[in-house]
Amino acid sequence: MPGPRLDRRSFLKITGAQAAVLALSTRARAQPSSEVVVVGAGAFGGWTALTLREMGAAVTLIDAYGPGNSRASSGGETRQIRAGYEDRELYTRWVLEAFGRWKAREAEWGRRLLYETGRLLLAPEWNHGLETTKAALDKYRVPNERLSQGELRRRYPQMNPEGVGVALFEPTTGVLKAREGCIAVAEAFQKKGGHFRVGRASLGRPSGSRLADVALADGTKVAASIFVFACGPWLGKVFPEVMKGKLFVPRRDVFFFGTPSGDDRFSYPHFPNYSEDDSLGYYGFPSIDNRGFKVCPVGEKTVFDPDTDERLVSAYQVKRARDYLTLRFPALKDQPVVETRVCQLEMSVDEHFIVDRHPALENVWLVGGGSGHGYKHGPVLGEYVARRVTGQDRNPELESVFRLKPQTF
Ligand SMILES: Cc1cc2nc3c(=O)[nH]c(=O)nc-3n(C[C@H](O)[C@H](O)[C@H](O)COP(=O)(O)OP(=O)(O)OC[C@H]3O[C@@H](n4cnc5c(N)ncnc54)[C@H](O)[C@@H]3O)c2cc1C
Repeated sequence: MPGPRLDRRSFLKITGAQAAVLALSTRARAQPSSEVVVVGAGAFGGWTALTLREMGAAVTLIDAYGPGNSRASSGGETRQIRAGYEDRELYTRWVLEAFGRWKAREAEWGRRLLYETGRLLLAPEWNHGLETTKAALDKYRVPNERLSQGELRRRYPQMNPEGVGVALFEPTTGVLKAREGCIAVAEAFQKKGGHFRVGRASLGRPSGSRLADVALADGTKVAASIFVFACGPWLGKVFPEVMKGKLFVPRRDVFFFGTPSGDDRFSYPHFPNYSEDDSLGYYGFPSIDNRGFKVCPVGEKTVFDPDTDERLVSAYQVKRARDYLTLRFPALKDQPVVETRVCQLEMSVDEHFIVDRHPALENVWLVGGGSGHGYKHGPVLGEYVARRVTGQDRNPELESVFRLKPQTF
C-alpha cells in the first residue's frame, strides 16, 4: 500500500516547492494548479497518480486518449503476471509484492482483475535460464515444478509437446485484465479526489531549471511543482532529443482464436498461460471471459507510430500464429480468428524500467520503458515513482538500474 499520507504542508515541504506552486497558481490560466501533474494514464502513470493522491498530494492526471485506450501499451484485454525472471531478482521481488496488491485492490474495488491461471514456460531442454529462474522462484518460495514431456502429455492432452523437452510450471501466477485495470485505477484516483482530464500535453514554459507548466492542445496551461511524464511509447515524441537512442517502439500482433464449440479445454481454468523459451518465440493465454485463445508471435522489429499507424494484423503474422497453433494445439488449427490487436512495446535498451529526472529540468520525471513486462508491476512501480519524485525514496542502487541509458552498440 502507498507510503505515509502527507498533509498539503508536509508535501510541499518535502518537494521544496511551496514558493514555486504559490507563484505558479496565481499565473496559471484556466486550470487550477496541482502539486503534481502526471501525463499518461497507462499502467505506470495511473498507479503513480493514484499513489500520490493517496499520499495526500493534489494531482492532475492527463491523458491524450483516456486510461487504457486502444493505442496505449496498457490497452487490450490481458497481460501475464509471472514471477520467473531468470537472473533479475528485483522483478521477482516486485511481482510478489504486486501480486498481493492486485488482490487487495480487487477486494477494495469489488472488481475481478486477476486470474490465477498458472504459467508454463516450455523449452526444448533444461538450460541456464530455466535453472536461474527456478533458483529465484525457490529462493522466494514461489511454488514451481519442473515437468517432463511425459508429464506435460498427461496433464495437458490438448497440447502437443513436440519439441518441448521440459517445462517450468508456476501454478500460482497468471493473467491480469489490462485495459480494465487502467480504468479501475483511474476511477479510484478520481473517487479519492484526483483530477483527471483528457488532453494532449506538451512541455510548457521553463522557469530557470524548472518546468512551470504543461500546455494542452486546447490552449490550457496546467501548472504544478512536479511533472511526471509516463507516456509509454510516446516518450520519444514528447522528448525527442532526450530519448533519442534510448527507447524503441516495435509493433506486436496479437490473435484471439475461437475455441471449439462446446469445448472448454482451452479456457480458464482448464489451461494455463504459456511461453515458448526457444526460437519459436510465442506466448499466449487461455480464453478468459470467452474472448478466445490468445496467441502472440513475438520477434517483430517493425517500428510503430502509436498515434497514426493502423492496427491491422499482417498476413505474415496470421500465418505464423496459425502455423504455431497447428503444431502446438492441433484441435484449434481450423478455428477462426475471432479478434486481433496490434499493439506496440516501449523497449528500453536493457529492458529495465526508466525512472529518471529530465537532464535539464529538475522537476520533470521520465517514467516508462515497460519493455514487455511492465504492466503487472504497476502498483509497486507507481509507489516507487511517487516516493522518488517526492524525495522519499533514496536508493542509489535502484536509481542506477532505472537510469535513462543510451544504446552502447
Ligand atoms: C503486446 C504486449 C504484450 C505485453 N505483455 C505483457 C505481459 O504479459 N506482462 C506485463 O507485465 N507487461 C506486458 N507488456 C508491457 C506492458 O503492457 C507495458 O510495459 C505497460 O503497459 C506500459 O505502461 P505505460 O503506462 O508505460 O504506457 P502506456 O500504457 O502506453 O501509457 C501511456 C499513456 O500516455 C498517454 N500519452 C502519451 N503521450 C501523451 C501526451 N503528450 N499527453 C497526454 N497523454 C499522453 C497515452 O495516451 C497512454 O495512455 C506488454 C506490452 C505489449 C504491447
